[in-house]
Amino acid sequence: MSIKKVTQHPTQNEGLIFERSQTGRIGYRLPKLDVPETADVVPAELRRDDDLIGVPEVSEIDVVRHFTRISTWNYSIDLGMYPLGSCTMKYNSRLNEKTARIAGFANLHPLAPEEESQGALELIYKLQEDLAEITGLPGVSLQPAAGAQGEMTGVMLIRAFLDKRDGEASKDRRVMLIPESAHGTNPASAALAGFTVKAIRATAEGLTDMDHLRELCAQGGVAGVMFTNPNTVGIFEKDIKEICNIIHEAGGLVYMDGANMNALVGVARPGDMGVDVIHLNLHKTFSTPHGGGGPGCGPCCCTAELAEFLPVPRVEKSGERYHLNYDVPNSIGRVKAFFGNFGMMVRALSYIYTHGAEGLREATETAVLNARYVGEQLKDTYHKPYESDCMHEAIFSHKNQTRTGVHTLDIAKRLIDYGFHPPTVYFPLVVEGAMLIEPTESVGRQDLDAFVEAMKDIDREARENPQLVLDAPHSTRIGRLDEATAARKPILRWKPDSEVSVKTA
Ligand SMILES: *Cc1c(COP(=O)(O)O)cnc(C)c1O
Repeated sequence: MSIKKVTQHPTQNEGLIFERSQTGRIGYRLPKLDVPETADVVPAELRRDDDLIGVPEVSEIDVVRHFTRISTWNYSIDLGMYPLGSCTMKYNSRLNEKTARIAGFANLHPLAPEEESQGALELIYKLQEDLAEITGLPGVSLQPAAGAQGEMTGVMLIRAFLDKRDGEASKDRRVMLIPESAHGTNPASAALAGFTVKAIRATAEGLTDMDHLRELCAQGGVAGVMFTNPNTVGIFEKDIKEICNIIHEAGGLVYMDGANMNALVGVARPGDMGVDVIHLNLHKTFSTPHGGGGPGCGPCCCTAELAEFLPVPRVEKSGERYHLNYDVPNSIGRVKAFFGNFGMMVRALSYIYTHGAEGLREATETAVLNARYVGEQLKDTYHKPYESDCMHEAIFSHKNQTRTGVHTLDIAKRLIDYGFHPPTVYFPLVVEGAMLIEPTESVGRQDLDAFVEAMKDIDREARENPQLVLDAPHSTRIGRLDEATAARKPILRWKPDSEVSVKTA
């Protein structure tokens, strides 16, 4: 279907900015040159000889309106509930944004000398201390720019530790055990750090199969395990201490994917469970904004034993002064330019300070309570694949609805009509037609009830009028997209005179 050129409310039907172009229209005028033209000093082969074509010629108001209109197509956490499981789309307090915009933080140049950056270094140092306290792991680097990079940093620490401990023999210890339900980044990080991945099976209750774990350890060569707790089906690994013991006895180290720390902060500490390395997602648990590939922060926390391998520079304190230490001989080196995404650190510390220890614990308890409430309310309507009480996210499948022809994707699309962002769908892969619902602590009772009601209504629609659900969404600018074609044959380039069309199913 082409974007229709019919008269509609402008926000309903915003075309491409190229379509607004009027030859000769401009939004900005450069001042007259007051120096000689430098055309001659630019070598001929570097000069462009064609006209700039295909650039939209628009006025300032055209640009402002175009992007403002498009922005109204977005769904965001500021608009409503965003129960995207495993992503922890919690509300970000405006206070954190305000703090990050304090000029001294926002405008500080990363190459400013240490003595002029004492406040920023102190902030980094204090955040490191707080995260060490929260995780029970004393070594912290805030450098990684995302969860996945925190993972890679963490497994590189494991690799560096084993190389130092075992010398030549370390090359025979290259197996990383990863549960089959793991986030896809886990096996990717392990492979990047030179490990071979072996999958650990899950039990019918959604927990790590301990017998299989022992069996894999007995095969030898185990460098470690990467597991998530609560795991990706939202259940707490109750045998966590035993898992750590088995791995340690096999000579390996324990990596915990801490993206799900929203279920643990202030209540339980991975370091106390026997975990050696963890990454956190400040852009999930510690409230800083995420999505759209924007800046994130995936701190890597580890035991004192592993701290010598953490990235440089290290932010350290001597007396009352903070300084950067580049002289750490066993460090794996730098993983990110400068010191990481500093703005995220400001927001995270602001979040921690505004909550305090009590508040952080309360946030965790509320996150779990909210997920359990949704889990309990929907368990008679939607198939719940595991018996156990969930932690911060509730998992369901489409098993009760498929006989009407309605699947998880359709339910997700129909939720959009009810004003909700869909939950995470078809992940984790171990549950067929999974719907992973994570309300977070920043949702009140009314929103939870409205969500539950919407899910129940959709189940009723699936039985009474399945076509309504199969054709959803009905309330959006563009209806059901052919997502496979959109992903496989994306039209990413506008060409002058080309028929611009948006394919829909
Ligand atoms: C989000 C997430 C990651 C990856 O974090 P990014 O910041 O997106 O790289 C890893 N593991 C789990 C369990 C996650 O939920």
